Amino acid sequence: MNIVLLGAPGAGKGTQALRMEERYKLRHISTGDIFRQHMRRQTEVGNLARSYIKKGQLVPDDVTFKIVASALEEAGNENFLLDGFPRNTNQAAMLDGLVKIDKAINIDVDMSVLTDRICGRRSCIECGYTAHVSTLSDSVCPKCGCEMVQRMDDREDTVRDRLRVYEEQTAPLIEYYRARGVLVNVNGMGSPEEVFAEIGKVLG
Ligand code: ADP
Ligand code: ZN
Repeated sequence: MNIVLLGAPGAGKGTQALRMEERYKLRHISTGDIFRQHMRRQTEVGNLARSYIKKGQLVPDDVTFKIVASALEEAGNENFLLDGFPRNTNQAAMLDGLVKIDKAINIDVDMSVLTDRICGRRSCIECGYTAHVSTLSDSVCPKCGCEMVQRMDDREDTVRDRLRVYEEQTAPLIEYYRARGVLVNVNGMGSPEEVFAEIGKVLG
C-alpha cells in the first residue's frame, strides 16, 4: 500500500509518519527532511531550497520533482509513505504519472491551533525528533541527546506565509484525492497516541 499524508504545517504529519514507518514497514519519504539534509550539506539544491523555505514558499516544482523521483527510485518495490509531497495539484498529477497511490490520509486540525504548535516546535538538529517547547525541560533531545532548536521557518512571520500557501495550494488536494476515492480524514486534534490510534483504524 502506497500512502500520501496530507495536512497543514503543524498538523502532525512528521510525528505520525515516524510511527507509521515503524508499525507498517513503510519507507518514509519527507521532502522537508530531504531539503533540510541538502541545506545542511550546502548542496546546490539545498542553497536553492533555502531561499524559498525561509520565506515560507514552496520550492519550485521542477526541483522538488527531481528529489521525489530519485527517492521513489531508491524505494524500489517497497511501499512508501509520502510526507510533505504533493503540495499542489501539479505535484499530485506528476505523482499519479509515476506510481499508484492507494490512500491519502488527511490529518485534520483546526487552523487556530497551528500557529502555536509550529512556533512552539523545537527540532533536534541530529535526529529530527520534534517536541513542543512546553514539554521540554531543557534544549536537549530526549531521543539522542543532541540540541533541540527552532527551525528557521518555524518563526512566526514565516509561519503566516506557510499557512497561506497551505490554504491556497495544498488544501485543494483534499478534494483531488476525494475525487479519486482514496481520501481518508483523520481527526488530528488529539494526542499523538490518539491520532495514531485513528490511523490504525484506517490501516488495520
Ligand atoms: P511543514 O509540513 O511543517 O510545513 P516540511 O518540513 O514538510 O514542514 O516543509 C518545510 C518547507 O520545505 C516548506 O515550507 C517548503 O518550503 C519546502 N517543501 C517541503 N516539501 C515541499 C514540496 N513538496 N514542494 C515544495 N516545497 C516543499
Ligand atoms: Zn535527537
